[in-house]
Amino acid sequence: MDIQKTLSSAGLKCTKQRIAVMEVLLSSSGPITAEDIHSRVNEMSLSTVYRTVETLCNKHILAKHTIQDSDKFYYDIVTEKHHHYAICLGCKSMRYIDHCPVHTADIDGFTVTGHKLEIYGYCNKCKNKNSVSN
Ligand SMILES: [Zn+2]
Ligand SMILES: [Zn+2]
Repeated sequence: MDIQKTLSSAGLKCTKQRIAVMEVLLSSSGPITAEDIHSRVNEMSLSTVYRTVETLCNKHILAKHTIQDSDKFYYDIVTEKHHHYAICLGCKSMRYIDHCPVHTADIDGFTVTGHKLEIYGYCNKCKNKNSVSN
């Protein structure tokens, strides 16, 4: 993905902050919160991160996700390829599922044009934590 091209075709200036936020999200294994982004970029205040992700969301460069039982927003880059997410209820993290587990559904009289899928559960880290305490 060409970050500069993406920004300029949305009519945005290629500021250092926007590029840094995009780079963090490109290298992430799933949607992350503004706090997560903040901890991975240098020399940027949390409020700048918030402002930057909001700007990018308004231009539909980023998508905003929510997780049940969490009041935080999770951000990732909008791509043509659709993504599915595995959501950990323990540490409230989201990660991409590489393959699409949904096969073209054959529903009588209904034309399927898309689908959304979120899978809830516990990641390896949280699973191990639980089995130790049991
Ligand atoms: Zn977890
Ligand atoms: Zn799919």
